[in-house]
Amino acid sequence: MRKISSKCKLCRREGVKLFLKGERCKSAKCAMVKKNYKPGVHGPKKAMTKMSAYGKQLREKQKAKRVYGMLEKQFKTLSKKAMRDKKDSGKKLLSLLEKRFDNIIFRLKLAPSRISARQLISHSQFTINGRTVNIASFTVKIGDKIAVKDIKSKSKYWEKIKESIKNEKDIPTWLALDNKNLTAQITAEPDVEDVANFIDSSLIIEFYSR
Ligand code: SF4
Repeated sequence: MRKISSKCKLCRREGVKLFLKGERCKSAKCAMVKKNYKPGVHGPKKAMTKMSAYGKQLREKQKAKRVYGMLEKQFKTLSKKAMRDKKDSGKKLLSLLEKRFDNIIFRLKLAPSRISARQLISHSQFTINGRTVNIASFTVKIGDKIAVKDIKSKSKYWEKIKESIKNEKDIPTWLALDNKNLTAQITAEPDVEDVANFIDSSLIIEFYSR
């Protein structure tokens, strides 16, 4: 029997789809469709246990960290940075997460997952404002222009991407994508309302405020 990948176990642990495996996540092969309960022999029972306030904060932090594919240290640093914004630390955190370079490439549909986006970035596939940036955690800002560095070097991949995003309607409004030339510009601050429906960032701020 095919082993369910460890990435899928993370989704099952959190009880929600974290979309870590690109196209597979949208298919019937998704482990959350086939086995929608916690991993392990006591998995189905665990789903029914009640959580403490701390447990909820911890789980929300873990979920967000896994969605964006970050290490604890990186995630804590970003959360502490967001907490300097006394007015709305939660929204600030979501905004900082959304402005990570790997997330932008994923949101633009230039990669099927944030993991793939990170690989492309680390292989120097993109420029920001004409300069190669190979750091996935780089924070973009309004006005930044993103481009595929050398479309010819991975021409098959980019042709496939061009075809798949030809009629794409699901690009965030704060990103302007030129799908013919595979370039994009950050036109506004991220609209984090959609993300806020999925991640309760106030719980994460509470977690790091303890
Ligand atoms: Fe696996 Fe993706 Fe489904 Fe998560 S959403 S269980 S990563 S296939």
